[in-house]
Parts: sequence; structure tokens; C-alpha cells
Amino acid sequence: GLADKLQDTFDKLRGKGKLSEKDVKSALREVKLALLEADVNFKVVKNFISDIEERAVGKEVMDSLTPAQQVIKIVNEELTDLMGGTQSKLSIASDPPTVIMLVGLQGAGKTTTVGKLAKHLHKNGRRPLLVAGDVYRPAAIKQLQVLGERLDQPVFSMGDKQDPVDIAKAGVSHAESNGRDVVIIDTAGRLHIDEELMGELKDIKAAVNPQEILLVVDAMTGQDAVNVAESFDDALGVDGITLTKLDGDARGGAALSIRKVTGRPIKFVGTGEKLDDLEPFHPDRMASRILGMGDMLSLIEKAEENIDAEKAKELEEKLRKEEFTLDDFLDQMSQIRNMGPLDQIMDMIPGMGKIKQLDNLDMGEEHLDQIEAIISSMTTEEKRDPSIINGSRRRRIANGSGTEVQDVNRLLKQFKQAQKMMKQLNDMQQGMGGGGGGL
Ligand code: GDP
Ligand code: MG
Repeated sequence: GLADKLQDTFDKLRGKGKLSEKDVKSALREVKLALLEADVNFKVVKNFISDIEERAVGKEVMDSLTPAQQVIKIVNEELTDLMGGTQSKLSIASDPPTVIMLVGLQGAGKTTTVGKLAKHLHKNGRRPLLVAGDVYRPAAIKQLQVLGERLDQPVFSMGDKQDPVDIAKAGVSHAESNGRDVVIIDTAGRLHIDEELMGELKDIKAAVNPQEILLVVDAMTGQDAVNVAESFDDALGVDGITLTKLDGDARGGAALSIRKVTGRPIKFVGTGEKLDDLEPFHPDRMASRILGMGDMLSLIEKAEENIDAEKAKELEEKLRKEEFTLDDFLDQMSQIRNMGPLDQIMDMIPGMGKIKQLDNLDMGEEHLDQIEAIISSMTTEEKRDPSIINGSRRRRIANGSGTEVQDVNRLLKQFKQAQKMMKQLNDMQQGMGGGGGGL
């Protein structure tokens, strides 16, 4: 993907020491190609590269002690700028309820995002009401009700025989009289943008005057997502964008061009189908992630949400005393599993993107079950000190867990890597003056 390509380019640059103008230009040419391949809008790429070139080929950079670092720093700053510079938050009404209206094409992820947003807002102390405003898609109301039940948050519906404008208005009144401070309205989408859809959305907008029209677009559609965003903004006006399915988009082009092209900020990104898979969008963190510099802040936030603080302390203690065993590994795995797919987690750790690439770590659910089986087939002694696991023990463990010796070998190798990675995390936290909490 894009991140791998950029990292390769910068690795080469770092390896050079002193840089010539030609070195920088050829690195930037590679960056340009990588961006185009990632389906970033052509004009955006052109301006982006020329901005960087202007700053990077100057004497100041070339003559500095660490020219490659300077170039990377400039790219990082420009990337951050490209995606909006600073975080754009949801606008919250001074006089509740805040009304948020989700709009977008069919299948973009609106209904799912209503649920994710409700969860996010509830975690932050708000009392959301979900409003079922899609009366056309047969299962849309039910889908929202299921989400509401799972979240234990109320869903307002008037069935599928009423006008969506009336439903939206009644939903807001319902929130007012029931002490709900955020109304999240799900709306219908179409396969393509049409007059009728826009007409209905405009009517809802006029009726409930939302603080926030949040456009939901599918990142996997690349430049189409950007075009859709432009059309919605022209016809309806949008306040912010949620880019969904970023987990499935290896190219990442939409995230990089949508802000520049539409002028509207990305406020959230969807990174999976589960209700936890929504992240507030931070341009600076995303830039670091793309450049392989990791995103420790998001990682720590995720960890704080999902990892048992007591257990984390225990583990930290064990790490320090180098008593981290395979049992702890298993335990850690299942906690990390709660945080999301491991490959996404690893992308947030500086330098880990590379290890992931090299060892082709497979962290799917099935694979984790296999790991559990293998570790369960070990003796206590083996779990405490894996170095004693010789050939015959490996065969026994493989037999006991219904796996192959090579699976056992791979696990042992991964365990070693995990130890290393945790040590790295731990050192980093110490360095940050942390110590407690976190991983
Ligand atoms: P709507 O038609 O806009 O309401 O879209 P839905 O909310 O029904 O979502 C359409 C499909 O996209 C569903 O299968 C969702 O599970 C899936 N989906 C939504 N958001 C994400 C995401 O961030 N990542 C992934 N992988 N799938 C998503
Ligand atoms: Mg829907």
C-alpha cells in the first residue's frame, strides 16, 4: 500500500546521508507515483508535491545535519496540512438537543455509523436518540433497532408509512421531552445521486435545522467518494465527513484528497464493521501513520478503552522483571483482540508496519484460536521458559493441539517478536514519563 511505498522511499533517502537536489527530486517523484497509485486526485498530488519541493530543495534543508529527516518532516507537515491540519470535532448545540443528520449513498455505511456514533457519544457522557429516517430500504428500521438494542440506547421510529420529514421532526421533539441531548438521524440513500433524494434531504434539513450534516462516504470507492462528497456539498451543504471502510482500502486516496477538493473536514473514520470501529480523525496522527512513524496517541487511547488497567500493570511489572510467559502472551492476545484487528493496531506502533510486512503475521480469528490451542498443549514449564522447547517437544505440542510443527515454530517466533514489541512499548512509555496505565 501507500504507507509501504512511502516508507521505502524514505528509507532509501535516509541511507544517503548528504542529499543533492537530484536525490530529493527523485524521492519526490516516487512519492508522487505512490500517491497517484493510491488514487489521490491528480491536481491535489501536483500541488502537494510542488509545495514540498519548494520547501525541501532549499539550502537550509540540504546543508542541515539530517537532510533526510528534514525532508520527511516537511512531508509529514504537508500531509497533515492536506488532511486539514487540526482535528475537526462535531459541533454541539449550546441549547440541546444537538441534531446530527447522516447522509450519503446507499451502502456507504450510514446506518452502521449512526450506531457507532451513538456509542462514541454515549461513552463521552451524552444521551443519544437514534432516529429511523430511512423508510425505503425494507430492513433499515430493523437494522437500526438492533443496533439500538445492542447499545442499550433508544431508537425512535414511526414505521415505514410516514414521511421522513415528519419522522425527523417528531424525533427531535421526542428527544426534547425525554431528556436526550443528541439526536442522530439515519436517512435513506440511493445508488446514485438524484433530485428526489436531494429534495428529501433538503426538506429534512429545513425542518430540523441540524447542527451537523455528516456525510458518510465509502473510502473503497476512491476518487468516486470525493466526487460524491462534492455533489452532496453543492446540493445540500455538509459540515463534516465520515470516511468508512478505511480498513478495506489499501490505497487511502480518498482520505488524502477529500478535504482539499471539498474544503470539508473529515471528522471520523470507520475502520471495521463493529460498533467500536469508529475513530475521531486526527490529520497529524494519520500523517504519521502513513509515513510509518506510528500513532502512539491513538494506540494508547484504544488501549485505555479496551485493556484492563490492573492486568496492564501486572504485565508491565512482569516485563520489567522479564517474567513475561506464553500464558501472558495468550492473555495479552485476547486483550489486544478486543482493540481491533492486529494489523491495524501494529500500524499505530512506530516501525511495526515493517515487521508486519516481513513476517506476514496472520492475526485472523481462526489463527488466534490455533494459537490458543498450541499454548494450551504446553506444560507449565514450557510456557514459562519456551527456550526448552526442543524438536521432540515441538512435535508433541503439535500433535496435542492438532497443528503442524511449523505452526508451533511460527508461534514461538511470534512470541519472541511480541516480547520485543512489548518491551519497545514499555520503554517508550517510560520515556514519555508514563510508567503506569496504557499497555
Ligand atoms: P447504509 O446503506 O449507508 O446505511 O450502509 P450500512 O450502514 O447498512 O452499511 C453497509 C455495509 O457496509 C454493511 O455491511 C456494513 O457492515 C458495512 N460497513 C459500514 N461501515 C464499515 C466500515 O467502516 N468498515 C467495513 N469493513 N465495513 C463497514
Ligand atoms: Mg442505511
